Amino acid sequence: MCLGDVVLLEAGNFVPADCRIIKSNNLKAEESSLTGETVPVDKDENKIFAEKTSLGDISNMVFATTVIVNGHAEAVVTETGMNTKVGKIAKMIINNETPETPIQKKLAEVGKTLGLACLGICLFIFCIGLLKHISPIEMFMTSVGLAVAAIPEGLPAIVTIVLSIGVTKMAKKNSIIRKLPAVETLGSSTVICSDKTGTLTQNKMKVTNIVTPIDTYILNNLKINLNSELIVDNANQRLAIELATLCTDAEITYENGNATARGDPTEIAILNAVQQIGKNKKILNSEFERINDIPFDSTRKMMTTIHRTPYGYRIITKGAPDVLLKRCSKYFEKNKILSMNISNMKSIENQNNKMAEKALRVIAVAYKDVDTLPMKIESNYIEKDLIFVGLIGMIDPPREGVKEAIATCKKAGIKTVMITGDHITTANAIANELGILENGDLSITGSDLDKIPDDLFQKNIKNYSVFARVTPEHKVRIVNAFQKAGEVVAMTGDGVNDAPALKKADIGIAMGLNGTDVAKSAADMVLTDDNFVTIVEAVKYGRTIFNNIKKAIHFLISTNVGEIVTIFLGLVIGMKSPLIAIQLLWINLITDSLPAIALGLEKSDKNIMNEKPRSPNKSLFADGLWARILLEGGMIGILNLFAFTVGKNLYSLEVGRTMAFVSLGLLELVHCFNIRTDESIFKFGLLQNKYLCLAFIGGTILQVVVVVVPQFASIFKLTALTLRQWMYTIGISLMPIAIMELQKLSDELKFGKRIHKETKMSQLRTG
Ligand code: ATP
Repeated sequence: MCLGDVVLLEAGNFVPADCRIIKSNNLKAEESSLTGETVPVDKDENKIFAEKTSLGDISNMVFATTVIVNGHAEAVVTETGMNTKVGKIAKMIINNETPETPIQKKLAEVGKTLGLACLGICLFIFCIGLLKHISPIEMFMTSVGLAVAAIPEGLPAIVTIVLSIGVTKMAKKNSIIRKLPAVETLGSSTVICSDKTGTLTQNKMKVTNIVTPIDTYILNNLKINLNSELIVDNANQRLAIELATLCTDAEITYENGNATARGDPTEIAILNAVQQIGKNKKILNSEFERINDIPFDSTRKMMTTIHRTPYGYRIITKGAPDVLLKRCSKYFEKNKILSMNISNMKSIENQNNKMAEKALRVIAVAYKDVDTLPMKIESNYIEKDLIFVGLIGMIDPPREGVKEAIATCKKAGIKTVMITGDHITTANAIANELGILENGDLSITGSDLDKIPDDLFQKNIKNYSVFARVTPEHKVRIVNAFQKAGEVVAMTGDGVNDAPALKKADIGIAMGLNGTDVAKSAADMVLTDDNFVTIVEAVKYGRTIFNNIKKAIHFLISTNVGEIVTIFLGLVIGMKSPLIAIQLLWINLITDSLPAIALGLEKSDKNIMNEKPRSPNKSLFADGLWARILLEGGMIGILNLFAFTVGKNLYSLEVGRTMAFVSLGLLELVHCFNIRTDESIFKFGLLQNKYLCLAFIGGTILQVVVVVVPQFASIFKLTALTLRQWMYTIGISLMPIAIMELQKLSDELKFGKRIHKETKMSQLRTG
């Protein structure tokens, strides 16, 4: 963006730079980010201000980071970047801190606990040393060794690396994570509340039917065929589509014979349909010049444009039929304007319902001609006493893969809820088709929702799967009720007014294609393709990343415990320390960290979406993870001590230390394969994780190089090993595979017996 660029602004946009307004209509901006004032202020290019006016009163300018909440405007850029008003404030308060995720916070606590435990052990060892009259210098070096062994130095860095790589991969799959903790929360989501239009459906609308008061016959045999031409065969239908065309902001432009559509898909469908009667928006606009408008918003569910005619003004309103009909006192039929009575109203409502039952999105069109315009261009003055003309029905087919994604959610213990501004019958028809409404699930409209008290709504919230004709304000109530019922809620949104619900949800998901800047800035995650399938993929990814981080932590802490056990037992049973500080540091950095990162990059488990969501309150070390870490650490420590003892007793202290050093590295490299799965690693497969294979090969080569290259060996105080010593070391290092395979086999047998017993019991119960 450069100085002098012209920007087009409309409700929901963030202002990208400080700009002078050139042209505007009903423009209001919310400037709390600059002035602290949350009430939107009127903006108008014609207002002139005195030289020393305060920021909040400068009405002919809009400022970077403020939000347009109403109307639209053209404005020219006057300042960009750090020269804008907000840039100058930002310069004063630059802060680069990134918030920690829950896992990172939990790990910081684990780190503290391990540090304290280490201090305790060091003190204990020091006392033993003093009792055994060992020199304080030697004891100091041993304590340093223990400290190095106990503290998993790589842990915070590895968690950050795994999260960052995961987030980059997710971005490539169309979900951009804006707030890192969202990755963890995604994996715990139990409810996904999704907008219908554009997320569950394609948002590629096509007008299939235009029904006016004289066309009721069509409804007895309403045919919807995506491939067939729309039939417009009477003057009433022509008027309906022409008026609707005038009342649009969308545009279709042609360049080299190619059409490019810009704007709301509902309106683009109308612009496409009008071409079938040989008209287009340009021709119609030249006959009826547009002079003002009240933009569409999803709370009013209507839009109005005002046009000049030879006799005065024509006001055209289009919107949701149930809302617009209440504003109509007459209807148009065969060139006559007739008074609307209850029975006409009922028959139009009936037409609307029949169209909605076929999953059509329905827009009503009405107008009125006036000689003079009211003083205020506001909904209450303008959108009343209208003449109803007709209903325009358009089909918006479900997106590909959404039905399957909803079924996947069901298996994964996640409830899918449709939230839409559309008619309840349209919503139900699509929800049925997608499998959202099943087995007694309920649907409800926003106005019925208003009649239910909070406590009753919270009690029954889990029964509802479709919320129709809701406003963005209802979304906050829905999120709140689900959260009070103990659910972890992901909520989608695109409009300005969706921001509070996106903030309230555990995961706010904004639409990247059709979402406003405000929604995106309030969200934790932005979908670049606005697709529900991407949300489900992101949940799967969130679960995978969490599991992988858990595997990396399991690996790192169990190997650290192994190191502590080696040194602690070595000293307690009266031997020299099997490893010195520099050797432990090498092991921790090379044979610990590389496999841990590789474990963090494991692919999704095939059963990951068959498991129930993880409770966010569940400890990272739940389900016996601490016990496993201690047992596996004990195993590594004892095997390592065994290698040291063999080397020391059969050969010398140096050989013992070298064998302990090599075997500790190899034991850890081998053990990382055990951690990948609870199944036998031979059944699960050894080679799928290429990063792990590379870490294993790289780690092994480095370990050997350090021993065989004399320059390195002298730095690490190692000695050359004979072939026999290598064989002993490698043999001991492979033992964790045999031990863990036996343990997994016994677990499998126990599990098999339990299932067998449970099946027998249930057979006995059912007789
Ligand atoms: P969601 O995206 O939340 O699933 P939605 O897009 O259908 O729902 P809204 O955009 O709030 O919800 O639309 C609500 C109703 O307003 C629609 O059913 C339609 O009748 C009417 N409507 C939608 N777009 C327009 C428009 N551009 N002009 C006039 N009326 C519209």
